[in-house]
Order: sequence, then structure tokens, then C-alpha cells
Amino acid sequence: MALLADSHCHINFEPLGAELPLILENARANAVGYLLCVSVNLEDFPQVQQLAHSYPQIYASVGVHPNEIKGEDPSVERLVELAADPRIIAIGETGLDYYRSSGNMEWQHERFRRHIRAACASGKPLIIHTREASADTLRIMREEGANQVGGVMHCFTENWDTASQALDLGFYISFSGILTFKSADALREVAVRVPEDRLLIETDAPYLAPVPHRGKTNEPAYVRYVAESLASLRQVSLEHIGAVTTRNFFTLFAAARPLSEKALREIGLLIRDAG
Ligand SMILES: [Zn+2]
Ligand SMILES: [Zn+2]
Repeated sequence: MALLADSHCHINFEPLGAELPLILENARANAVGYLLCVSVNLEDFPQVQQLAHSYPQIYASVGVHPNEIKGEDPSVERLVELAADPRIIAIGETGLDYYRSSGNMEWQHERFRRHIRAACASGKPLIIHTREASADTLRIMREEGANQVGGVMHCFTENWDTASQALDLGFYISFSGILTFKSADALREVAVRVPEDRLLIETDAPYLAPVPHRGKTNEPAYVRYVAESLASLRQVSLEHIGAVTTRNFFTLFAAARPLSEKALREIGLLIRDAG
């Protein structure tokens, strides 16, 4: 079985953070080999960064989520400085969210622009969150030249028109457990059309647990359900989806490296014996 990569999780959030050894063991048991722990604010960033330095299979990003209203709102320079750490492989999550914030959204636009500029300056790709704001998200991506650095539209829930515009800008599309929800027929149609070399999978854990765990706490091990769902929709094997999405993960997040066989064996992730 190819190792799976959970391209977006928040394992520092409770209740996952308190049970990290168990969460990592569950991931291992489901062949989830790589995890990207995504920052949502700078106050928790040291904790996220520490995880990426403590475990070879965990990488991290730096950024401030569009709905974060307390805490530091970083400058371009500050983001670039924090992104210099080689374990930090992306900028985000950033973007626009008109569902949970309303009124004058200029502050969200400004913050998003600063993240895109930081990504271009640091050469590390963007993790973009967009909710009820796809037109403005794409417009700002174009205006700021986000295509120069690329990135991923995370937890994708938009239509094909939005997906194809993001693909045209060189972006990847990441699907979450929402793909398994009964009501997600339109999203499943989008998931069939995304080119294979632009697909990523994620949990967004602890949120959005896929069926059959819907409504419970999500964890990286469950990215396997997302992979299974994509495999059956696209009529390919789970092995194939695993190989493709993990290869895409390392292509997009070029600062990350697949672990050596020796390192995989040390953390119990080498399923098939090398001999
Ligand atoms: Zn998000
Ligand atoms: Zn997230």
C-alpha cells in the first residue's frame, strides 16, 4: 500500500493534541505516512512548529486564518521570516471566508494579499481557504500573481467553474471527508473531473469526519476514507489514489521530502519489507 499524505490537519487542536501518540499510531495503522499540520494563528505557531520538529512524518505551515480576529495580524516580512524554517513547507491557511465573518471584508482581503506576497517571496506554496467568497478569492489570487508560487485550494467545496479557474492558476484541489457526505453529489462530480496530477486529500481534523465517523472527532487516519471515496468515484484502485496524491504532495510542497526506508522503519511505517 502506498503511504497516504493528509495534506491538511490541525493535530494541535483538542482533543487531538492531548492524545497525539494514539492519533499517530492510528495514522500509522492506516498507512497515513505524512501529515501537514496547518497553522491558523501565530499564537499557536510555536506549538505547530514544535510538532514538525519532533516527528519526521509531520510538516507544518505558517499563517493566520481569515476568521481569526484576535492575535497578531502579520506583515509580509514577519511571515517570510517564520517560513524560513525548513520544516515549514507552506504559507497558510489563508484566504477569504464570508460565511463566518461579515461586514466590510477589506481587512480579510489585505491579510490574504500579505500571505500571497509572503508565499511569492519565500517560494513556499499557499494553502487557501475559501468559503462563500470564491469570486473575490480568485480575483485576489490573480491580482497578486499567486500563480507564480502555486498552492492548494483546501477542503474544496466549490463548483467546477471555480475549480477550473484555480487549476488554470496552477493550483491543486484538495478533497476532505465532505466527499463522503450524502448531500455532496455536486462535489463528487467535481472530484471526478480534477486532473490526476492536481489531486490532494486531507482530513481538516478534528473537523469534518468522513462517513462512517461523521459527527465524531476527525483524525488523520481517516484520510483513508477520503482516498477510498476518490478511488471508487474515479474507478481506480486505492493504491493508485494513494500513490498519486502522495506524489502530488511532494511535488507541490517541494520543501518536504519522502522519508528514507530506514526512517520509515524506525517509526513503523514501512509496511512492505525492503528485502
Ligand atoms: Zn480551512
Ligand atoms: Zn484547516
